[in-house]
Amino acid sequence: MADYDAVIVGSGINSLACAAFLARAGWRVAVLEREAEPGGAVRTAELTEPGFHHDVFSAWHPLWVGGPAHAELGDALAERGLEYLNTEHPTGTLFPDGESSFLTTNTDANAAELERHGAGDGASWSETIASLGAQAELVFGVLGTELWSSAGLGLGAKAYRRLGRRRLTEFGAEVVQSSRDWLTMTFASERAHGLLAPWVLHTGLGPDAAASGFMTRVIAFAIEAGGMPVPRGGGARLVDALVRLIQDHGGVCETGRDVEKILVKNGRATGVRLVDGDSAGAERAVICNVTPTQLYGRLLDAADVLAEVADAGKRFRFGRCDMQIHFALSEPPRWEGDERLDKTAIVHLTPGLDGVSRAVNEADRGLLPTEATVVVGQPQTIDDSRAPAGKGILWIQLQELPWHVKGDAAGKLDVGSGNWDESLREGYADRIQARIAKHIPNLESSILRRVVLSPADLQKANINLERGDPYSGSLALDQNFLWRPFARQPGHRTSVDRLFHIGASTWPGPGLGAGSGTLVAKALLQPPAARRLVGRLNTFVRQGQA
Ligand SMILES: Cc1cc2nc3c(=O)[nH]c(=O)nc-3n(C[C@H](O)[C@H](O)[C@H](O)COP(=O)(O)OP(=O)(O)OC[C@H]3O[C@@H](n4cnc5c(N)ncnc54)[C@H](O)[C@@H]3O)c2cc1C
Repeated sequence: MADYDAVIVGSGINSLACAAFLARAGWRVAVLEREAEPGGAVRTAELTEPGFHHDVFSAWHPLWVGGPAHAELGDALAERGLEYLNTEHPTGTLFPDGESSFLTTNTDANAAELERHGAGDGASWSETIASLGAQAELVFGVLGTELWSSAGLGLGAKAYRRLGRRRLTEFGAEVVQSSRDWLTMTFASERAHGLLAPWVLHTGLGPDAAASGFMTRVIAFAIEAGGMPVPRGGGARLVDALVRLIQDHGGVCETGRDVEKILVKNGRATGVRLVDGDSAGAERAVICNVTPTQLYGRLLDAADVLAEVADAGKRFRFGRCDMQIHFALSEPPRWEGDERLDKTAIVHLTPGLDGVSRAVNEADRGLLPTEATVVVGQPQTIDDSRAPAGKGILWIQLQELPWHVKGDAAGKLDVGSGNWDESLREGYADRIQARIAKHIPNLESSILRRVVLSPADLQKANINLERGDPYSGSLALDQNFLWRPFARQPGHRTSVDRLFHIGASTWPGPGLGAGSGTLVAKALLQPPAARRLVGRLNTFVRQGQA
């Protein structure tokens, strides 16, 4: 049995960031990945035709570049070949009538754009950005803190001192407000609503969900401040650089290594056993980047964990499903309408706030939406190395789909058994392609190849994308913030000593920010005396929670 200080199960972005921090600090680290490639939902491949480099799953890196791991590891990763490219034209929405609305990286330009659509909306935008800027420490503090811990308690105390009881109560109300309520209270124009509402889908929420207003504001602020960075050559370059960094510090990253059991002795995690019978010992920590369903349904023996915790973990809920469509084109797409569409990284096609709300509601009721929110990603607007000269590439995302399809809200597609088989997948992709083609007249004549990934394909590609949920678990309020991954066992510590739970299913949730991996690494790297003190405080806070 090979021995390490830490064994990390799975090689998602949280695992790699965590391993990089630990390895850099001198820990002997092993990252074990069951698939053939490291990176989980970060993968770049010539999926369609040679020379076309598709980000198969995630593609946009504002959360990584704006996050705590990049702040510390960025230089070391750049030394290992990682280069970020960015744009001043991160996003826009194209409405069915051909009108569009855009967000750039400039506050005044954005205010002018929103004012063009609705008198007074320019000033509302400037106020939104200014007030979020003033609260940035608290807002990003919430998103970057272990909430059930002394640090979480400290953040609360600091906010109380700064804001006072009344303002803090208002801040709490703002956090749980829906996107619809925030948008309609803040902006007069439906174009402004339609520009921002689709972004809640990227946080796993719908516009009527609790906390979606907060997430809309945070994302709007982050996009304006940070643009839409992508690594030159594709997302996998980030994975390559992280793996190199881990290896340069003596760490190990192995693929094709499916962990089937966490070894527990006297209530303490001591290592893992793999499907092939091999095992790896961990002297200081076993860190699992898995869903709660896998952690409590597969990796831990019933005898090693309280029955009520295991039951709650197995009942963890997944959210709506995702489909990805990749196009290789013989020429770049040419949009009809506003010339800014050609250079915008992410264009949403939607009728607006009500359109997003309707599509989410249809998916929640098991239906294929009549008019989905289509995310048209154009990586080539930032990085021309993604396709051969003169050719085009598109990354399409559809985040409003059910796992089991009961019917078609449009009443057109025969959904058969309701399972995501080839016929349903390609039939639905045809509908989306026709929608896009209405706005990109040269789309259909230029398709060299189309590859579609259904929710079932996503689950097959990555066990953490259970039920085709790109965000590894519903972000409904009872599984979010203080309650992520689930109320019986929130945070990253588990009831098994030295066993830690990270990944999109855990706080602060999905995305490439690597928040959970960073939080756990930082906790493990605290000096022993501080760790003991913080451990005692955390026990106190957690006992209060129990
Ligand atoms: C289609 C799609 C598009 C997205 N787009 C974006 C985007 O543009 N920007 C953004 O910020 N976020 C995006 N996201 C979300 C983001 O990519 C994910 O939230 C994030 O990558 C998840 O990282 P993770 O660390 O939780 O692990 P994951 O990436 O889920 O990786 C977990 C890894 O663990 C492995 N594993 C699990 N169990 C075991 C085991 N028992 N043994 C060994 N290995 C195991 C899995 O095989 C997998 O490789 C997208 C997600 C998807 C699916």
